[in-house]
Amino acid sequence: MNIFGFRCVHCQGQLAVASHGLCCRCNRLVQSRAYCGKCGAELPQNAMMCGQCLRHEPSWDRLVMAGRYNEPLSTLIHRFKFQQAFWLDRTLARLLLLAVMKARREHGLTLPDVLIPVPLHHFRQWRRGYNQADLIAGWLSKWLKMPCENNLLVRAKHTPTQRGLTAKARRQNLKNAFRVKRKIPHQRIALIDDVITTGSTLNEIAKLLRKQGVQEIQVWGLAKT
Ligand SMILES: [Zn+2]
Ligand SMILES: [Zn+2]
Repeated sequence: MNIFGFRCVHCQGQLAVASHGLCCRCNRLVQSRAYCGKCGAELPQNAMMCGQCLRHEPSWDRLVMAGRYNEPLSTLIHRFKFQQAFWLDRTLARLLLLAVMKARREHGLTLPDVLIPVPLHHFRQWRRGYNQADLIAGWLSKWLKMPCENNLLVRAKHTPTQRGLTAKARRQNLKNAFRVKRKIPHQRIALIDDVITTGSTLNEIAKLLRKQGVQEIQVWGLAKT
């Protein structure tokens, strides 16, 4: 084996250790600055809540993110989602794992009972060949020794993209888009997503889970825009 043969998945720089995929420089660029552990807003220092989420309270309880949707994370996620680079799953999942550990230290995060990846509509998943959130959740489940349920929550409606829609149109678009297949046997859930944009999809799912009696809902995302 050639130990000098490993390259950074982003900048192609040489790597000493292959397993992580990213070089030190790219790794440093991903590090997220301080943020609100509930809504994800950027803050001067880490906090469990902020003024913004007091005004528009998210339907979930806690939020964890690997970083902001900037370079190099944005390019990596784009390749992972839209260019069939499913093999980036481990590198990206590791970034989220580090963010979870950091949130445990700095945001007082307690780990959930189960991980649930945000589902794709079966048509979209069939076309893409995989659900990116599912791949990430699989690694986290393995590393954190925590169950992952990927057939409890289903996307029943093939919603057109949310981009460019007004808040009201987005809510309309998502109405009854998700349903649960059976009773949820867990109290504390982490929803795994790739990019958290407006949060309207996650809010919709959180409300549905809340109605099913789930007590704590966390959102773990690779990046927040
Ligand atoms: Zn690099
Ligand atoms: Zn906040």
